[in-house]
Amino acid sequence: MRANPLLRFSVLSALCIVLLGLVLAHVLAQGIRDRALVDARETAQLLGDEAVRPLLRPGDFAGRPISAPRRARLDAVARDAKRDGRLIRLKVWSSRGVVVYSDDPAVIGKRFPVGGELADAVRGRPFVSVEEEPDAGQRRAESSGQLVEAYVPLRLRGEDTPTGAFEIYAPYGPIAAAIARDRRMLLLVLAGGLVVLWLVLFRIVAGASRALRDQAAASRHEADHDLLTGLPNRRVLQERLDAAITRARRETTSCALLIVDLDGFKELNDTLGHPAGDELLRELGPRLARVLDDDAVLARLGGDEFAAVLGDRSAPDDVGRVSRALLAALEEPFALDGLQVRIAASIGVARFPEHGEDAAALMRRADVAMYQAKRARTGCEEYSLERDGHSRERLALAEELRRGLERCELEVFYQPQSQLPSGRVAGVEALIRWHHPVHGLLTPGEFLFLAEQSGLSRPLTSYVLERALEQLSAWTALGLDLTVAVNLAVPDLLDARLVDEVAGHLARSGVAPHRLVLEITEDVVMTDPQRCADVLFDLAALGVSLALDDFGTGYSSLTHLKALPVDVLKIDRSFVTRMGTNERDSAIVRSLVELARALGLRVIAEGIEDGETMDRLSAFGCDAAQGFHLSRPVPALQLTPLLMAAAGEPQPAAA
Ligand code: C2E
Ligand code: CA
Ligand code: CA
Repeated sequence: MRANPLLRFSVLSALCIVLLGLVLAHVLAQGIRDRALVDARETAQLLGDEAVRPLLRPGDFAGRPISAPRRARLDAVARDAKRDGRLIRLKVWSSRGVVVYSDDPAVIGKRFPVGGELADAVRGRPFVSVEEEPDAGQRRAESSGQLVEAYVPLRLRGEDTPTGAFEIYAPYGPIAAAIARDRRMLLLVLAGGLVVLWLVLFRIVAGASRALRDQAAASRHEADHDLLTGLPNRRVLQERLDAAITRARRETTSCALLIVDLDGFKELNDTLGHPAGDELLRELGPRLARVLDDDAVLARLGGDEFAAVLGDRSAPDDVGRVSRALLAALEEPFALDGLQVRIAASIGVARFPEHGEDAAALMRRADVAMYQAKRARTGCEEYSLERDGHSRERLALAEELRRGLERCELEVFYQPQSQLPSGRVAGVEALIRWHHPVHGLLTPGEFLFLAEQSGLSRPLTSYVLERALEQLSAWTALGLDLTVAVNLAVPDLLDARLVDEVAGHLARSGVAPHRLVLEITEDVVMTDPQRCADVLFDLAALGVSLALDDFGTGYSSLTHLKALPVDVLKIDRSFVTRMGTNERDSAIVRSLVELARALGLRVIAEGIEDGETMDRLSAFGCDAAQGFHLSRPVPALQLTPLLMAAAGEPQPAAA
């Protein structure tokens, strides 16, 4: 286990502070001692200058003995000072080393060699030191075994060179006591200060570390939880599901995954607005949670999809009971925006080990079961292998599609578009087909969703773009004047690299940008309008045309249309094919044509299956037509002769 970082900090910082305290105490104590000695020296100088010097005469230093009265007065000064504890021994030296006066009469008049401290003092440099007392027994008890010895210069009349020197021994006891007192005081203040410093530091660091810890916990929570509902997210659910499976395997019990998907949530969102939708999702969490056992995990997978992992009680009966309880919990209406709103849900169940051996399999199967419940409108379905033939086939197909792309089983067919009223073929739309080795020729409706689900949309578009531009380049070389339209899927428009890719394909094929039309549907744009708009503007800047496909089926087209760099509208074929039988559809087509023209856009009608519809469209002012009436989508090889014929050229054997 890692040591608590705060504890580590407090110990380390305390150590540092103690160390700092010791160094400081040492330095300051040294300072105090030095200061005390300076004080002692100054005291000695003062005693000499104030009390002794006035009693001395120049003659005293010239070898004449001091007169008895002055000597008596000097003795009195020394006595007084001794009594006050300021003095132990006093000597007055001449600069030549003669003792002019001493409180010890025995040494007066004696001469000593001038050296050491005395020599310094008679040259003007005072000296002070602490000495061991040579014979403490003679001194007073308070002298503590040490004394201060000071040599200070003596200047009789304030001249530059000293006349001699005072040698003064003073008791060290009082000074030592003062030093000790100051030191105690200093240590106390220092220790107090450092303790306060440490406490302040500790508080700051503890506060900061608590804030960091809280922040880390919050971001951990954020990473694991859905922001809207506060429920665990998909990742956490998967982890719990893995754990539940591991435990069930170890204990040979079971577990179950329930996927709950709301019915008609999108419509509710569209009519009441997103805030109301969010509110419903927020309230939903606690309602579902109330039904579940404490050990069950409830998560939001995204959108209106929730999931629960049931541990112990996962026998079919138990799971059925829980599912019914979950559905019942939703029966009570939700109060949104003052409205009573009811919402139903569909639940899909997959159990371990019956329906899948791992989390991924259970997720997939619960999903399949949920769709079965939706389709059958039964509320809840358990996964069943027999009914899932379709989805297993799907999974296999997705893999086959991936291989099909690699093995060039996909072929681009082309459907011509004729200008109205002239009938001249001015362009083609590229439409993908799959020559499946077993199932034969498949149309996009049978496999495009697979491409979307398995991340193959981008490679597919790239393939179609490349083929279509190569083909157009070949046609142009034959003297045909055509455009080619290529359909884009959602992932294409969300990928900013699309622009470079298109530019690359154009450059390689040598096709002029204005001959390429990229078709987008409204739902493609609506997935992420801002991002799409960015990509669309970049594409338009390349000089490529943009067509809005299946126009008329969406709702918000007009608002978005105005903001997008689109230059062609393609009226959805559902309106066009019904024009002959339904007057309302005919009216819709007419007004869509008018709308497009009013917006200054070219308009193409698709799904024209007969001549009469074509004539009417021409009369409405539609620019171009596309449909089975003119030609079904066909391979290039088949279309080339027709195009050449229509262009009035002699037909080549093959293009
Ligand atoms: P779409 O872009 O609306 O393409 C026109 C569809 O209408 C084609 O279906 C075409 O065969 C069909 N059609 C043309 N004329 C008539 C007619 O007169 N009557 C009727 N009933 N139908 C007609 P297809 O080829 O099955 O393509 C279906 C959809 O698949 C396309 O709809 C397009 O959205 C998508 N798609 C096709 N090829 C590609 C592709 O390469 N990439 C992408 N992303 N989508 C593609
Ligand atoms: Ca299209
Ligand atoms: Ca269309």
